[in-house]
Amino acid sequence: MGTMDKIKSMLLNQQKKVEEEIILLDKDDPVNSEAPVESSEPGTDSWVADTHTRTVAVKKSLQDILIKIKRALQSMASGKYGMCENCGRKIEPERLDAVPTATLCINCSKKGSKN
Ligand SMILES: [Zn+2]
Repeated sequence: MGTMDKIKSMLLNQQKKVEEEIILLDKDDPVNSEAPVESSEPGTDSWVADTHTRTVAVKKSLQDILIKIKRALQSMASGKYGMCENCGRKIEPERLDAVPTATLCINCSKKGSKN
C-alpha cells in the first residue's frame, strides 16, 4: 500500500467518524430533541441555551475539519495533494504524516496563514 493510499484511507475513516459525530451532536442538541424539554425546573432554559451554544460550537469545528478532509481528498483526486497552496512547494512528508489535511508547508503556515 502506497503512502498516498494510506493517507487516503485514513482521511476517509476520519471523514466517516466526523460525520457520525456531527449526527450524534445533532441528536444531543436539546433544541433538536423531539421530546419536549421539561421547562418547569428553574434554570432549564439556560441549560438548553448553554448546551445548544456548546453543541453549535463543537459542530462548527467538526464541520471545519470535514471541509479540510474533503479538500484533501479532492486535491488527491486532482493530483495536487501535498502541494503548498501558498508557495506551491511540496509539503514536508512528516507534516502530512502528522496533519494529513495540511494545505500549507511548514514555512507558510508559520507565516500566519491559518491552517
Ligand atoms: Zn508554502
